Amino acid sequence: MEYRGADTSARLNEQVDQAVIRAAAFTKHDRTLLAQVRACNTVCEFAFPIRRDDGSVKVVKAWRAQHSDHRLPTKGGIRFSPNVDSDEIIGLAALMTYKCALMDVPFGGAKGAVQIDRDEFSAGELERITRRYTFELIRRNMIGPGVDVPAPDYGTGPQEMAWVADTYRQISRGDLDALACVTGKPIALSGLRGRSEATGLGVFYGLREACAQEEDMRKLGLAPGLDGKTIVIQGFGNVGAHAAAFLAQGGARIVCVIERDGAIFNPTGLKVAEIVEHRSRTGSILGLPGAETLPSAAAGLNVECDILVPAALENTVHAGNQAGIRARIIAEAANGPVTALADQALRQRGLMIIPDIYLNAGGVTASYLEWLKSLAHVRFGRIEQRFDQGAYHRIVEAVSGATGHAFDAQILSGLKGAGETDLVRSALEETMATTFAQLRAVSTQHRTDLRTAALIIALDKIAESYARMGIFP
Ligand code: NAD
Repeated sequence: MEYRGADTSARLNEQVDQAVIRAAAFTKHDRTLLAQVRACNTVCEFAFPIRRDDGSVKVVKAWRAQHSDHRLPTKGGIRFSPNVDSDEIIGLAALMTYKCALMDVPFGGAKGAVQIDRDEFSAGELERITRRYTFELIRRNMIGPGVDVPAPDYGTGPQEMAWVADTYRQISRGDLDALACVTGKPIALSGLRGRSEATGLGVFYGLREACAQEEDMRKLGLAPGLDGKTIVIQGFGNVGAHAAAFLAQGGARIVCVIERDGAIFNPTGLKVAEIVEHRSRTGSILGLPGAETLPSAAAGLNVECDILVPAALENTVHAGNQAGIRARIIAEAANGPVTALADQALRQRGLMIIPDIYLNAGGVTASYLEWLKSLAHVRFGRIEQRFDQGAYHRIVEAVSGATGHAFDAQILSGLKGAGETDLVRSALEETMATTFAQLRAVSTQHRTDLRTAALIIALDKIAESYARMGIFP
């Protein structure tokens, strides 16, 4: 089958739904239950005025979609993007429902957006927009620790989450748990050590698991393991830059990084810290000393590599450009980066696609831990860290006493109790590894691709929640 033209206008919501229908065919769930799971429970579109620094007023459009409240609170990021629309937000909220179910994170799915290009606004204007957006959610009862808990997404980060938390806290005086109304906050506002890099780290753990499967790698014509694998990263933001850093640390070679304004290439490997430093100095990744600047961002997608990591936005790999892709694995770090037509064509060409609802779930997994931390009002590790350290030293002393063996100072100084970052990383590693094992088992059992397998697992878990409510058979 030949694919012509681009399907970039493909509606994300429909694409997600098509994939769910494909997965549902492997299950025996009641049709009305499936209709309920697929339907978006609530979507709210609103607009509000914002005073700009020059005194003019701009009317800003915004959304919050709560796709499934089979579990509460619902959870999902807030996106600042000029091209966002209600269909995109519903599709992204649906992905959150399936992602949370797959990863055993006890939330329903949600997503929010403000239709702006953040680069066109000052810090003060962004603060006014974020606070007003939060206020609009509060007055509709669409935010709260037990209701709906936003997080960062494309175009937002810890600063915006701090404004969300503060606005909510000021309006809900006396609510001891108010800071659990949002995740991805700065540490000083009950944020979690390890949250900002969690999605990129999860991408690394997920790819490490996938590449460890000898049989799968053999089918792709690749050696097992991440070591020496060549990687192209599309989108060098929070997710892409952290994923690149962890993958490079894990022995992979980042040969190309693609951004909105172009791509940089070095077949012997780009140094992630140098790209970060160059961009913070010049405002662009282009022109990095020692790297070739490719003629266009599109050219970056055609670079030969083992793994392509789209970490920018949805629909960046589509029917119009998939034929030029020369990777063996597509690792969906972004949400919905591969259109349904491209997905089909790439799988027919024998590529492995590691789906978004699994691969970028490190973010929501860490967000779950942050929510628990904000509710518990205590940092992970605070209670047991020193106690564990003492216990390890007492064990070593006992072994030394019994055997006469003296352990060297370096070993002794490494015997520490786990701090918050250690615990968060360990939880992420465990979650990504166990979920991959389930994913692979279901994919083998049904002889189907990883995306379909991920959705089968998610549907089974959501159906079980509904069954326990006694609503559906
Ligand atoms: P971000 O805003 O930090 O970074 C995105 C980067 O992509 C920016 O540098 C932007 O310039 C670049 N970009 C945009 N369009 C591009 C294009 N066509 N080609 C190349 N580069 C392009 O956003 P982020 O938080 O890293 O999110 C990226 C993706 O990951 C989104 O799909 C988001 O939904 C998903 N995601 C994010 C998180 C999280 O924790 N931040 C969690 C799960 C999934």
